[in-house]
Amino acid sequence: MSRPADELEWQRQAACARPENKTMIDYFFSKEFNKKYAAKNLCFSCPVRAQCLKWALEHKQIWGVWGGKDEVEIRRALSVGYTGEETRRRRFPNCPLCSARPVNLFTGVIQLSGGGRWTTAKIVTCKSCNFSWKSRTSANAVEAYHLDRQSRLEKAERAKARRKNRAKRAKPPRKKPSS
Ligand code: SF4
Ligand SMILES: [Zn+2]
Repeated sequence: MSRPADELEWQRQAACARPENKTMIDYFFSKEFNKKYAAKNLCFSCPVRAQCLKWALEHKQIWGVWGGKDEVEIRRALSVGYTGEETRRRRFPNCPLCSARPVNLFTGVIQLSGGGRWTTAKIVTCKSCNFSWKSRTSANAVEAYHLDRQSRLEKAERAKARRKNRAKRAKPPRKKPSS
């Protein structure tokens, strides 16, 4: 969304900044479902949706609709609560751009320019649409998802092996053919 104080190059192309959409500007922070829905719809026709979403995630914009996502979806992608604090979620994040499931999300480490104490950051990348965003908290949530998934798969594998062993033991011994 275009904000004069945060003027950025991509904002010049923002659909919500066009004069014909001026009346919708409040919709982006509305609590009314219909207005929020209309705002999201406009985002999906916006040529700079991905840039807007990335900017919102990197600047922790946890209120309003950005890049077609509302505050709940943005907080989930960032793994933060209402006040922006890091939170453990039962529901892991989906890709905020294409909604791909967390199994398609991967984390990595990137170098930051500027040096100083914080020279690296985590980056989450979606395998489905190639969208990526810098994050500490959502990276943690994505890592937790993969660990959780791995342990569930191993558990299922162990249960399968136990069932196989039990079935093997339960088989009656073969009778010798009578001569
Ligand atoms: S994606 Fe939505 S909020 Fe962002 S610039 Fe486009 S219309 Fe505005
Ligand atoms: Zn994606």
